[in-house]
Amino acid sequence: MSESGNASGGTILFVEDEEAISAPFSKVLAREGFEPVVAGTAAEAMELAERIEPDLVLLDLTLPDGDGRDVCRALRRDSDVPIVMLTARGSELDRVVGLEMGADDYVVKPFSGAEVVSRIRAVLRRTRAAGADAGRFEPAFTVGDLEIDVAARTAALAGEPIELTRKEFDLLAELARNAGRVVTREDLMARVWDVNWFGSTKTLDVHVGALRRKLGDDPAAPRHIETVRGVGFRFAES
Ligand code: CA
Repeated sequence: MSESGNASGGTILFVEDEEAISAPFSKVLAREGFEPVVAGTAAEAMELAERIEPDLVLLDLTLPDGDGRDVCRALRRDSDVPIVMLTARGSELDRVVGLEMGADDYVVKPFSGAEVVSRIRAVLRRTRAAGADAGRFEPAFTVGDLEIDVAARTAALAGEPIELTRKEFDLLAELARNAGRVVTREDLMARVWDVNWFGSTKTLDVHVGALRRKLGDDPAAPRHIETVRGVGFRFAES
């Protein structure tokens, strides 16, 4: 993510093939102080994301050459850029799938300019505050063989760095800083995802599963992240 100190509210990569949507909403974004850059295809989105390093990606799900969820997954492989999905489908399943792919939030079509702008601002505020908070308040800490440096957003297990996605890191940090205590599913959803969330916490289980794999935990007898059935999860103290 570029943190250029210009007056712009940030560069928004707007991935949308329908000009009837991208043209008017680009105008709204520009008026609100953002720099919109439109990509009409998944391929163009990937190319532009690398070249312009946007501050946020607004991502339509249905694209002529692919699915927005694949773009989301591909972006997440090497970037923490905030992603807001545009979806015409409002079912809970789609929301869960979107968040599992690594999206930060979603807006359901049809949406208003004001709605999109407020969602973009909220996501940018949250991600920027997360970075700033980390640097200000939290020194690196260790729990057993795990080391976490929240400011640098790095984690290591027995001295070996672990590759984590942004949400995986946030989840691990939240569990580790509460080591020895149960953190409820609801608290984890609120603190790590704090999206306009309601309903299933399946996405949490998916992320816990990924973390366990990366920590080398056997799901049947996890050494680090213990399941407290019906309540939540506990990071083992040692
Ligand atoms: Ca579309």
